[in-house]
Amino acid sequence: MKEREIMKIFHDCGALLEGHFLLTSGLHSNRYIQCAKVLQYPELATDLGADLAACFQDLQVDVVVGPALGGILVAQEVARWLKARALFTEREQGAMTLRRGFTVEQGERVLVVEDVVTTGSSTREVIQVVEGYGAEVVGIGALVDRHTGTLDFKVPFHALLRLEIATYSPESCPLCREGLSLVKPGSRQGKVEAGYSSSK
Ligand SMILES: [Zn+2]
Repeated sequence: MKEREIMKIFHDCGALLEGHFLLTSGLHSNRYIQCAKVLQYPELATDLGADLAACFQDLQVDVVVGPALGGILVAQEVARWLKARALFTEREQGAMTLRRGFTVEQGERVLVVEDVVTTGSSTREVIQVVEGYGAEVVGIGALVDRHTGTLDFKVPFHALLRLEIATYSPESCPLCREGLSLVKPGSRQGKVEAGYSSSK
């Protein structure tokens, strides 16, 4: 699929919202991405997994690993096409780890995947876990790359969609200045209680 078609899927599923959003970090943004809104449709998840898997098909991947929760379905769908195992890492007392009897063997070739790469920090944590088992990370994949600055990954990185998302501190948010109402994505009403917006 072309990036334009993938963008349309995200828009059509309501996974990519445009407006004025309050992020969990406290920053405001002009766009909000929620990959789960796309992945709720298994056929689309499988199609996107195929596209992402195609970027890594020559790397002889044994295992695809993603961080929970966002990376679980992505790992599953990419692994389906690469005929690899699909695992996920979880946090245990804050530390990223493989649980549930999951393991990777020394020398296995691992692809690390995420739904969205923002700073790359969770990806780097997964890499550390995998390398701790003596396995080799051979690539990194994501549905959406929305990072700013440098990611500094040492292996090939591919994302299906590259998104520019502007973030602002509440004090200097131009969307607040325009008086656009602030929305907290994922909350039931979506509206933010009074007091959050600096325009109040
Ligand atoms: Zn704002």
